[in-house]
Amino acid sequence: MIGAHMDSPTLRVKPISKKQGEGFIQVGVETYGGGLWHTWFDRDLSMAGRAMVKDRNGRFVQKLVRIERPILRIPTLAVHLDRQETFTFNKETQLFPIAGLVAAELNRQGKSDGTAKAGITNEDCSSTHFSPLKAPGERHHPHVVEIIASEVEVAPSEIVDFEMVLYDTQKSCVGGLNEELLFSPRLDNLEMSFCSIVGLINSVNSSSSLDEEESIRLVSLFDHEEIGSNTAQGADSNFLPTVIRRLSVLPGFGGKAEPDPDAYEQTLSKSFLISADMAHSVNPNYGAKYETDHKPEMNKGTVIKINANARYATNSPGIVLVEKTARRAKVPLQLFVVRNDSSCGSTIGPMLSASLGMRTLDLGNPQLSMHSIRETGGIYDVDYAIKLFESFFVHYTELGGSVIVD
Ligand SMILES: [Zn+2]
Repeated sequence: MIGAHMDSPTLRVKPISKKQGEGFIQVGVETYGGGLWHTWFDRDLSMAGRAMVKDRNGRFVQKLVRIERPILRIPTLAVHLDRQETFTFNKETQLFPIAGLVAAELNRQGKSDGTAKAGITNEDCSSTHFSPLKAPGERHHPHVVEIIASEVEVAPSEIVDFEMVLYDTQKSCVGGLNEELLFSPRLDNLEMSFCSIVGLINSVNSSSSLDEEESIRLVSLFDHEEIGSNTAQGADSNFLPTVIRRLSVLPGFGGKAEPDPDAYEQTLSKSFLISADMAHSVNPNYGAKYETDHKPEMNKGTVIKINANARYATNSPGIVLVEKTARRAKVPLQLFVVRNDSSCGSTIGPMLSASLGMRTLDLGNPQLSMHSIRETGGIYDVDYAIKLFESFFVHYTELGGSVIVD
């Protein structure tokens, strides 16, 4: 199986976000994860997330929302007004998006300054009805609620609540003189999520038949890695163990009509988990930050991540298995450790290997600017990782049993 995460550092709209200052409409946001927040300034931002909508039958349903046009921006201060050497700012008061001008909004509503008030009130929230919370149209700028409502094609009064995060509207693109680079937001960790899913699909297409396959091929994509994974949909939950337990007692498991009572434990001991999360390519401007002999290069293959203090779950039997897998796929691999005088990130690998007691290895493609709003990766590494994962799924049943640790 392959595990990866899909969340990235971002700014999330606060539960009461309606603010204004100096004639600007502003939207209150909360930081999520450890972003390189200075990169969020002067970008063309918008919102995406989910809205809870009241449907015709009185039920509350989730609708996914993406507002495509740029509606938000976090403005830097002109250099003329502050000649600070290093760029520092307050995350509460200065990492604070503007969403337009109060005057323009009043114009749109056909109101003058004196008569302005929240445009939308929830039907349940009029003065004649008791409501424990103010309606979304009162907690947030009504225009924001209107745009969300129009995206999901409901009336603003049908939006009961929402969770929206900010994103950069600039699309991903291919870059570099020879189109060898990938400029994109959220490569950590959508690149590994993408490669693992495509690898799984390709593995099913490339093998002539799954009838002979003894293993179950599984990809698990988690939320909340950037904030510690200790949530219901994070890797530190019982989600994956529960799914594996249910799969392991499927009829026919191990060629038997009735599953063994310890089928789950057998499954764990026979399985292997690749924890796929992006790695750091060497940055040419900061070469000294990397361990001399472990400087992963862009487009030179997926990086196996190793750490003596188990920040990564990789060990030698795992390296042997993945090396054999890569050999079958004819794709290169690289090795990474951090310097002893440097801090080290971690992944879902160590926590999953601990909770499942399963053999695990950490790897990921090299990238620059991890946790920036706009990251950089290598085009060929995407192809290498897809081929590596396809090979892993196709050959695991054969290769997994050939690495013996007693
Ligand atoms: Zn990550």
